[in-house]
Amino acid sequence: MVRWSFGLSQAAVLPLIVFGWLVGVPQGVAEEIRFQILQMNDVYEISTLAGGTEAGLARVATIRKDLLVENENTLTVMAGDFFSPSALGTAKVGGDRLAGQQMVGVLNAMGLDLATFGNHEFDITEAQFRDRLAESRFQWLSGNVRDVAGERWNNVPDYVIRTIEGETGETIRVGFVGTTIPSNPASYVSYLDPIEKMKADVAAIKDETDVIVALTHLALAEDQYLAENIPEIDIILGGHEHENIQQWRGKDFTPIFKADANARTVYIHRLSYDTDTDELIINSHIKPVTEAIALDPDTAKVVDYWEQRAFEGFRASGFDPGAIIANSTVALDGLESSVRNGQTGLTNLIADAVFSVGENVDLSIFNSGSIRIDDVLPPGIITQYDVIRVLPFGGDIVTVEMSGALLERVLNQGLANRGSGGFLQTAGVSQDPDTQNWLIGDRPLDISQTYRVATVEFLISGKETGLDFLNTDNPELTLVSEQGDIRFALIDQLTKLN
Ligand SMILES: [Zn+2]
Repeated sequence: MVRWSFGLSQAAVLPLIVFGWLVGVPQGVAEEIRFQILQMNDVYEISTLAGGTEAGLARVATIRKDLLVENENTLTVMAGDFFSPSALGTAKVGGDRLAGQQMVGVLNAMGLDLATFGNHEFDITEAQFRDRLAESRFQWLSGNVRDVAGERWNNVPDYVIRTIEGETGETIRVGFVGTTIPSNPASYVSYLDPIEKMKADVAAIKDETDVIVALTHLALAEDQYLAENIPEIDIILGGHEHENIQQWRGKDFTPIFKADANARTVYIHRLSYDTDTDELIINSHIKPVTEAIALDPDTAKVVDYWEQRAFEGFRASGFDPGAIIANSTVALDGLESSVRNGQTGLTNLIADAVFSVGENVDLSIFNSGSIRIDDVLPPGIITQYDVIRVLPFGGDIVTVEMSGALLERVLNQGLANRGSGGFLQTAGVSQDPDTQNWLIGDRPLDISQTYRVATVEFLISGKETGLDFLNTDNPELTLVSEQGDIRFALIDQLTKLN
């Protein structure tokens, strides 16, 4: 199959649309069959972000409806990662956490067509996962993810083939294959090799399809490998990186596209297949999802419904999600790329909150991975729900005593974890600018001294990256007291801003 592929900016694509679309097809010539794909990936929030100015699935629903007016052959796809993690998903409703139920509800309402698994689909329990599959009114596909017995999940085929009909009744067959990175696997999941299985799936459908779309949730290097090694794949729609990517790889320059996480952007792919020459033309552009796009009222209603259900759950857990707790004069940066690499105003507020509720402590430490908002809170009103978004998993603050030697090991590992959720945030701790030695308060860390540390229960469980030795069985660590949920401490700390 000969294929031309153009991945261009929004501005640059216009002349091609004129050339490729608006020029009529002379009679007697085979038909150009046009179809469109609206792509999302890595969406954790149903609501708008950045104070309502960005993202929001009700806005994506409007984009979808507009595309359907333009061409009824429009498919909306999701390249994985949306059951978890999210703040709303942690709300307990009717005894169980929502755990992605809100996301499936909204995607059903907006009319998602196809989805493949991301690694975060398996953060929830097996029972929750099977419930989410059963609730999905869109079509799942996965070539390589199986249950622990190696069986396919209910109604999740390895691939999907859709027939697309052109204006004169000619048809083409478009095959969708799906594959997922085997990272943070759950005990109830097994994986076939994502690359080898995709080769097998493409081989299985290539003779009965005209176009093959790979819906992937892989690291970019693996998507590049697919492009370079499976030439039958025409376009790769991926996820996992959380930042927009467009690349062309392989000898026929197969395009790879990933949108920004949380539907801050979506990709729109317009494809045109010439049934005479078998040429496929792909025009792709990234579309920022901003307040310039109206909320689709039907989808917005479903978003509101799930927000309200989650808020009822938060109220039952002692929160008042709508309550205003502060009016911040500065933006509070909770982006993962920021908090996993350094301090921000937000990380300092949380570290101070942990410090202030600790019992006569010298310092505080918490893991940056407990911050899940991946968003910037703009200056202005902060509600209790914003705090839940920042720290959706909560967890108790604890006061411990530890040896200076252990403390030094912990702080060094926190630095070594830079870039991941195990990067540690602190209050009462700094480094001497000349020697890089640790300072506790204004004095050098003394390995023969005992320190009192306020931290979070997760960090003394031994489960953090490289910190397996930090647990209550360690004789150099003593649990002194417990201080309750970190979110209430942050609410108190924010109240002090007023
Ligand atoms: Zn992922």
